[in-house]
Amino acid sequence: MSALSLVRSELLRQHNFIDQQWRAGADERWLAVQDPATGMPFARVPDSTAADAAAAVEAAHAAFPAWRAFTGRERAQFLKRWHALILDNREDLARLISREQGKPLAEARGEVVYSASYVEWFAEEAPRLYGDVIPAPAPGRRMMMVREPVGVVAAITPWNFPAAMITRKIAPALAAGCTVVAKPAEDTPLTSLALVRLAQEAGFPAGVLNMVTAARERAAEVVDVWLADGRVRKLTFTGSTPVGKHLARESAATLKRVSMELGGNAPFIVFEDADLDAAVAGLMAAKFRNGGQTCVCPNRVFVHRAVHEDFVARLAEKVAALKVGPASRADSEIGPMINARAVDKIARHVEDALAHGARVVVGGERLPALGPNYYAPTLLTGVTAAMCCSREETFGPLVPISRFDDEAEVLAAANDTPFGLAAYFYSRDMARAWRVAGLLETGLVGINEGALAAEVAPFGGIKESGYGREGSRQGLEDYTQMKYLCQGSL
Ligand code: NAD
Repeated sequence: MSALSLVRSELLRQHNFIDQQWRAGADERWLAVQDPATGMPFARVPDSTAADAAAAVEAAHAAFPAWRAFTGRERAQFLKRWHALILDNREDLARLISREQGKPLAEARGEVVYSASYVEWFAEEAPRLYGDVIPAPAPGRRMMMVREPVGVVAAITPWNFPAAMITRKIAPALAAGCTVVAKPAEDTPLTSLALVRLAQEAGFPAGVLNMVTAARERAAEVVDVWLADGRVRKLTFTGSTPVGKHLARESAATLKRVSMELGGNAPFIVFEDADLDAAVAGLMAAKFRNGGQTCVCPNRVFVHRAVHEDFVARLAEKVAALKVGPASRADSEIGPMINARAVDKIARHVEDALAHGARVVVGGERLPALGPNYYAPTLLTGVTAAMCCSREETFGPLVPISRFDDEAEVLAAANDTPFGLAAYFYSRDMARAWRVAGLLETGLVGINEGALAAEVAPFGGIKESGYGREGSRQGLEDYTQMKYLCQGSL
């Protein structure tokens, strides 16, 4: 048995899931799913049409009244069963993630547990969707605010965390009493469909959760149906900023609620008083998880002049030791990039940096002997703000290092970007820690810490990294609307 074949073959789903049925797309066109390690197709899913998208909304709309009528505790029971099934099938889900997305199996197993943690968290939060009792300004009146589910939610996800991106949206939507139509990324539909299969086994009623797949060229055809339909009351999107802006504009036609988890350009600052070993460990964890393909990856690394040489030397040793290879090899730490476009972008960023005076300390090349989509973990020094790798999200295993001289200068540089998702810094000075954390223009800040995301915490950005939060109490409230009730005296 190959390292990436499934124990339960029925988890490989290759159809849409609409109104509790597994269906081909309306015109029976198919989208090939490729293994990024080889570039070869190994499965296919529907390349759906507007008709499939419309059928999914019909089902979700029809299911909404009964689903919202359950108590929070009752909805939590469905979610708890789903959570248990995800963990029971952890190995198969991990293999699907690795096969279609490329991350090493150990990381994929970690992603399954992480994705399940959102289902458990929102199952626990579902019965605690409190409102407010409001002290009335005049006698004889009772005032309160209650929270209600917004209705049908459309969820659109990216490829980099095919399990976690789905559960971070679907679990809170279902917990709040909403029903869902979802479209996973075209590169990684299989993990999402397997999660839906497990939701089906968990017994969610027909129409509560629907999933439709489509090729990139057809994504707009499917999603446009959801954008135009006034019965879809919320759009939750994770992906790139240009697509997010387009979807936000289109959502205005029916004034949908919108949550946007978009691109980042995270700064990682190493002050002169940092614990350098801790900073190296934090950077390695934050940067190289998922081969550098995460939205919170440090994209610009600023190191104080006084510790620059020392830090670069320690980091170079670790980066050079990273093992690159397919997910099927047990010792792989960095897998293939998702596709050829992703590798081309990294190569372009490195070439641009070198042409403008940066220096390669480690890596700096494609690795064609491994397969079409591999790029070597790379460390560059002498990077400036004008280079492409400082302006755009590289989304790959590239660490570009710049030097700085003082705090004000590095804060200005860190904030000099339209993005505002994550930032990290290392310093032993407590006064500086609170000052710098307060001045960084991002939704998340890691203070002497490289791993930020957790189901209990509000994850999300500011500026052009978006709005809305996933995880935490706020991640549930984003799927509700407030209703104010005022009772006069009888
Ligand atoms: P993408 O924007 O290209 O695609 C995301 C999703 O949108 C996919 O499902 C895709 O099919 C769909 N899509 C694309 N064009 C569309 C259109 N015109 N209409 C409707 N849907 C459309 O992003 P990606 O390349 O899949 O993911 C990488 C990006 O996601 C990066 O920028 C990364 O930073 C971001 N990301 C953000 C977070 C976060 O939480 N902030 C998390 C993960 C990834």
